[in-house]
Amino acid sequence: MKWSKMAWQRLGANRRHQIRKRLLKRDGPHCFWCGIRFCEERTNPALPDQCTIDHIVPTSAGGAIEDSNSVLACWSCNNERGDMPAEQWLPIAMARRRDKAAA
Ligand SMILES: [Zn+2]
Repeated sequence: MKWSKMAWQRLGANRRHQIRKRLLKRDGPHCFWCGIRFCEERTNPALPDQCTIDHIVPTSAGGAIEDSNSVLACWSCNNERGDMPAEQWLPIAMARRRDKAAA
């Protein structure tokens, strides 16, 4: 986890902002995992902890830092998932999605 964070931070804020912009265009303003919609303020790069970039294969597990491995995730999903492998996290994410839909 430490390593992936460092690798990620090495990218720099500007690069991260550009990736986020591309992903927003590609996937729309929704959390890839739970489907929550980011509100305008949450897509504001001044609040990077609201709309985060998550990697399907965690970078700590050798996942590439590129668009094909990147999705937008709400802070809460990203934080809860941590470095969990996607196959372990997906059922939890799907349950979150159902909870949100039922609420
Ligand atoms: Zn989410």
